[in-house]
Amino acid sequence: MRQSHGSGTVDAATRALMLSNREHRCQWCGVRGPPRGTGTLHVHHIERDPSDVAEDDPVNLGVTCRVCHNWFHHRPTAADAPAPLTDADMDVLLSHDVLLLQVLDEIGPASFHDVFIRMKVLLSKTAVRERLWVLMGLDQLVTGREEQLVDQDATTGRWGFPDDIATSARGHVPDDRALALQRAEDELVRRALARGCDRDLVGSVFGVTRRNTFHKQYRAAAYAFPLGEFNRGGRPVEPDDDSDDVDETTDPSAAQEPVSDTNEEPEVPDGDLGRVETWGGTADEPGTPVSELLHDDELT
Ligand SMILES: [Zn+2]
Ligand SMILES: [Zn+2]
Repeated sequence: MRQSHGSGTVDAATRALMLSNREHRCQWCGVRGPPRGTGTLHVHHIERDPSDVAEDDPVNLGVTCRVCHNWFHHRPTAADAPAPLTDADMDVLLSHDVLLLQVLDEIGPASFHDVFIRMKVLLSKTAVRERLWVLMGLDQLVTGREEQLVDQDATTGRWGFPDDIATSARGHVPDDRALALQRAEDELVRRALARGCDRDLVGSVFGVTRRNTFHKQYRAAAYAFPLGEFNRGGRPVEPDDDSDDVDETTDPSAAQEPVSDTNEEPEVPDGDLGRVETWGGTADEPGTPVSELLHDDELT
């Protein structure tokens, strides 16, 4: 975990140039190094033996804090996952998702809060939710994947492997009307994108940011909302729906297990996850690279 890998260390001049170019900050999470900060910054080779440029070419170098650098070199791969993952799965999944699977394997079925606590060093709450939807909807997102990989319990809101989930939230119509509408809208967004509609156009039609269209797309894949049932008569018609709907925005399990005993971040709405988000186009986390989902408070 020194400042270089591959064939050798970048020379002092290149290192100084990189630090200066990147304003002495980790370009992934923003942690600041000397002179104005206290973070430890490394110069990292993005590729070990790039085909198009020299290994020490600034194009192939990045400035990273110790935490991010550690992640780059030790992030888990498909082989570390507690469930078999194909190459096609890994085209969609990130290293973070393998970690999430490991967490679910360890503690699942578990509330969102309990999962998030174990991931928060790496990901924001919004990002953890989105990655859980990706994992839950993986069979919808990856051609050839038959089995659902992760599921959520419609009754308890807990996340786990399908075998451990009693009542799947997949295909479930929540009897909370606002939530049902949100799910329906997610599905409409997903279908529009699946038909090849332009993402920016879809976003503008639904009044959400481009970033939010990804959010809705993944959530739709996870829950596979039965739009046909919902459309009949213009309202949800699921017959025997008592109170066992699940709302990832309120996380019913949180009610059963108060989270106030920790001094974790307050339960502020996630902005784009509140009930109103779907109608408004609230500003979401900008950008899609996972690097931008990294916390900026992981000070070294
Ligand atoms: Zn490195
Ligand atoms: Zn960093």
